[in-house]
Amino acid sequence: MRLKVGRRGLIRDLAIQRSLILYNTSVKMLKLGLIEVARKEIELGLRLLRKARARKPLLYRRYVCENCLVPLIPGTTARVRIRSNRKQVIITLTCLQCGWVMRKPCVKKKQET
Ligand SMILES: [Zn+2]
Repeated sequence: MRLKVGRRGLIRDLAIQRSLILYNTSVKMLKLGLIEVARKEIELGLRLLRKARARKPLLYRRYVCENCLVPLIPGTTARVRIRSNRKQVIITLTCLQCGWVMRKPCVKKKQET
C-alpha cells in the first residue's frame, strides 16, 4: 500500500513539472503570435494535472484565463488594474483575447515602519 501511495505522488510530481514546462513553451508560442498553439499547450497541461489529480500550480491558478485558456501576461494578453477600499486591495485581471475578468481580493497589509 505504501508503495502505491509513493508512486502516485511521483506521478503527481511529474505531472506538475511537465505542466510547468508546457506553460513556459506556451508563453514562448504566445510571444511568437501563435495563440492557438499556446492554448493547446495550456489545455494539455490542465488535462495532465486533472489526470494525475494534482493541485494546480500557482501559474495555472492565477495566470491562465479561465474562459479561453490563454496564458495571461500583463502587457500582451492581460490588463492589470488595482483597486482598493478601506479593507482590501482588489487586483483585476482582464483577458484581452476574450474580455474575461478575474478579480483577486487581497487583504491589505499594515504598513511596517
Ligand atoms: Zn480569455
